[in-house]
Amino acid sequence: AYPIDIPSVRGDFPILDRKVGGNIETPGPSPDDTDPLIYLDNAATSQTPTDVVDALTEYYYQYNSNVHRGIHHLSQEASVAYEVAHDRVAEFIGADGREEIIFTKNTTESMNLVAYAWGLAELEPGDTVVLSEMEHHASLVTWQQIAKRTGANVEYIRVDEDGYLDMEHARELIDDSIAMVSVVHISNTLGTVTPVEELAELTHDHGGYIFIDGAQSAPTRPVDVDAMDTDFFAFSGHKMLGPTGIGVLYGKQEILESMEPYLYGGEMIRRVTYEDSTWEDLPWKFEAGTPVIAQAIGLHAAIDYLEDIGMETVQAHEELLAEYAYNQLSAFDDVETYGPPGGDRGGLVAFNLEGVHAHDLSSILNEYGVAIRAGDHCTQPLHDKIGVPASTRASFYIYNTREEIDELVTAVDAARELFA
Ligand code: PMP
Repeated sequence: AYPIDIPSVRGDFPILDRKVGGNIETPGPSPDDTDPLIYLDNAATSQTPTDVVDALTEYYYQYNSNVHRGIHHLSQEASVAYEVAHDRVAEFIGADGREEIIFTKNTTESMNLVAYAWGLAELEPGDTVVLSEMEHHASLVTWQQIAKRTGANVEYIRVDEDGYLDMEHARELIDDSIAMVSVVHISNTLGTVTPVEELAELTHDHGGYIFIDGAQSAPTRPVDVDAMDTDFFAFSGHKMLGPTGIGVLYGKQEILESMEPYLYGGEMIRRVTYEDSTWEDLPWKFEAGTPVIAQAIGLHAAIDYLEDIGMETVQAHEELLAEYAYNQLSAFDDVETYGPPGGDRGGLVAFNLEGVHAHDLSSILNEYGVAIRAGDHCTQPLHDKIGVPASTRASFYIYNTREEIDELVTAVDAARELFA
């Protein structure tokens, strides 16, 4: 039994009926498709339920229009839907209101927004930015480069042998020079869940700000930015049943008020003269130009879908599958898994089969219709530390089953025989 009604959920995702395996020559299904799709690449991008596609279709068929400036009927409908999408996201993560919710393109842009608008203005030599060794490049590269430009110092909290954040090391690094701590909530490579409340308290005790990268957590468990007491939080719509092209930046209102805009242009201004300009209220001050209207409406529908299931239930399903996959894979002597044990991780498992490159393994898995990711998962320094160039990652979501993981394991077995 599963915490989720799997047949009913799967029925909402037409793509899961696809067969794959034919030549990839033209867009759309190939004529000689053979294997049922087993989609285990959810940490990269999740699939889209009919409710979300319907919301997008309704927008484009019924009220497609630009927002904010229109007096006409369609523009008013689009404006309300766009604004209400901010309210829905605020409610979803426990923010105080739409002022604290900025729509961006993705998690990466949310991170860059803060790094440019706050970091470039505020960081100076002597300041410390603390990251973890398991940061995604979205956070690692961004703060590394902004630190270079400002003369701030970057330090990395050690990840121990079992994949946990070394909190003793964190307490050493986070001292009174701290300006920003930017840590991933759930590692997209190790599956580690970081103690974000403890890190936020530690950071605030020393007068710094904290930014939590929620790209893997917001889709898979209940999130409450208020309870975490985080200053910033970011995630992407496309990893939580929503469309591509929308990300969220949450920021505490008083901090966002104090920041200068990141992008300039239309929609973000109040008054413009040839000499100077003033800014709109939050969140519009940070949403220059025509915003991500359709995507925001799609994200709203995705949140409705997830909350109909319940985020506690989503989390329970993720943990069940992660533990099952971890136990199956780590039972093999020649499979190395990375990160904490099965019962204590987010819904993904990265691994390597001894003697087989992750890319070769993933090609074999592809022959079985199993879609997984092979590579460095945008955590190159972490792979350097582990001592492997790449890994294979299976990641799960609300529609996945144990049988699909069994199929993954069968395909790994086949790869072993082939490369023996
Ligand atoms: N952080 C983490 C932990 C991620 O897993 C990802 C996506 N792989 C990102 C950031 C970046 O997300 P996006 O590509 O949507 O900006």
